[in-house]
Amino acid sequence: MGNITKNQRLDLPDFTTKVSLRAKHVWLKITGETGLVVVVPKGFDTSRIPSLLSKEKEWIERNLHRIITRYRQYQSFANELPEEIPLKAIGHTWKVKYHKAACPEIHLYEDDALTVSLWGDVEDVDKCRIALSFWLRAKAKRYLVPLLKKISREKMLPFQNVSIKGQKTIWASCTQNKNLNINYKLLMIPPILVHYVFLHELCHTRHMDHSHHFWGLVKNLEPGYREYDSALRTAWRALPAWVHK
Ligand SMILES: [Zn+2]
Repeated sequence: MGNITKNQRLDLPDFTTKVSLRAKHVWLKITGETGLVVVVPKGFDTSRIPSLLSKEKEWIERNLHRIITRYRQYQSFANELPEEIPLKAIGHTWKVKYHKAACPEIHLYEDDALTVSLWGDVEDVDKCRIALSFWLRAKAKRYLVPLLKKISREKMLPFQNVSIKGQKTIWASCTQNKNLNINYKLLMIPPILVHYVFLHELCHTRHMDHSHHFWGLVKNLEPGYREYDSALRTAWRALPAWVHK
């Protein structure tokens, strides 16, 4: 991608030029990350770009504004900390309170009324996020691990150990030695899906692959597995942005 060209003289937005070997015509592309990109075929006379842009000025300004605004909103949202944490899997919704104090770390404590308080350097968003992720881990240990053990007993699918992780793209996994890793973000999705994730991983203690033997076992224990499987693929999108960092 070329350098950003300043367009003050013509009162046009800044843009980046990109030469594409496949492009047959000039085309304009706007994304939140790159801003305006002018894609030109190889050998195109780039001195023609400003006049092309001035013809499309209205379209560019309208879309640039819309796309950049949405992108910035998303960025700031991703940095925001929650005021409320719904733990759908266990049916609790926690309120989160932040108390600024002259203390370099964050202390976290709960009260009886489903409120979790962070106390200390709460202006540091990353510190708060880390404190909250430790808190979620503890909740997963307390509520999700017993659930996993219960399903394991009921279905007679034993496992070795369980570890709690904060994976970015998977809900859970099973190793060759029948150790399970479960994602604490499971706390934020409906209980029926958590149940299915656990059942699915426990079936891997018997079949390590996704063979028809594996799916046969899953289907036997959970006839509605297809629906849950597809719901899980989209459940990531419902998670709040702060939990992904
Ligand atoms: Zn699997």
